[in-house]
Amino acid sequence: MKKIALSAVFLLLVVFLVPLLMPKNPAVRQEKPSLDQVLQSTPLPEAPSDSESGIILPGAENSSLTVRLLAEDEVLSLPLEEYIFGVVASEMPASFEIEALKAQAVAARTYTLYRLKNGGAHDEADVCAEPSCCKAWTDTAALEEKWGGDGAVYGEKIWQAVSSTADMAVLYEGEPIDAVFHSSSADFTQSALQVWGREVEYLQSVKTGGEEASSRFLAEKTFAPEDFKAIFHSHYPQADFSGSTEGWVSDIALNDSGAVAGCKIGGVEVAGTKVREIFSLQSTRFEYSVKDGAAVFSTRGYGHGVGMSQYGANAMALEGADFREILRHYYTGTEVKKIDPGTAVPG
Ligand SMILES: [Zn+2]
Repeated sequence: MKKIALSAVFLLLVVFLVPLLMPKNPAVRQEKPSLDQVLQSTPLPEAPSDSESGIILPGAENSSLTVRLLAEDEVLSLPLEEYIFGVVASEMPASFEIEALKAQAVAARTYTLYRLKNGGAHDEADVCAEPSCCKAWTDTAALEEKWGGDGAVYGEKIWQAVSSTADMAVLYEGEPIDAVFHSSSADFTQSALQVWGREVEYLQSVKTGGEEASSRFLAEKTFAPEDFKAIFHSHYPQADFSGSTEGWVSDIALNDSGAVAGCKIGGVEVAGTKVREIFSLQSTRFEYSVKDGAAVFSTRGYGHGVGMSQYGANAMALEGADFREILRHYYTGTEVKKIDPGTAVPG
């Protein structure tokens, strides 16, 4: 009898207490199947194949060289052509003409081979991913994010530009050149002598055009008079700004390419390249004016102006030029050839 009484108490407890302990919304509880049920009834979704998920670089592993790339404090070892893909994707809009993208691929490869051969700014790596130091580079995950739904199409287009020109380089007297490039010039590119003060046979000033297509082609940089004075005084304390703002920049002299060779600021003679550096101007192709009391530099073009103009290259491609013509145009006296990067660069 005692056992039966205990069982009855236990049953009562189960009947009355268990419902109280259950979640208040039985509908939700009933809809949620157990993990076992889920695993048995629902097949796992198939992982998307690479071609569906975005960027693939078939054959990149067959590159003739490996590049040590410093990216975010980490040194990556990348097949040469995979590295070039990341550079072209970062340095030129994927919407550009295929021949311009090919020219960019060959220029970037040549620049890299030149750095590998002649040494660069880094001990632990051949190049870095900083555009202000070496060349811009982006990994495929970040590119897929940047390109969104166009990732696969853009990736394939750029890989076509890279892989179809694999192992090709711009050569001067049989050697890979220092294939510098920039976003846009205006009318003419600049020579290495005009910008860096050193004669480089293949980096001469050449005619260029069609660069107005760049959203950064025209720019204005405006300075409050006090800021203008402070910035310049920090480099040249002797400058005299006692006169009117209009006269602060004077005696602007242009070089043969039409960029500013030099001028006077506050009576101090300064090279155009130095003015660009001090005031962070987009180019040395600048004019000075005063608007609403502020000092204004108006620039045309973007970048140092030496070597290949990227927007100029695209304009040439739109007019039917192929990548070899584009490269030979911007790099004077050069040839574009397939080489063996392994022997071009001592290991
Ligand atoms: Zn670097």
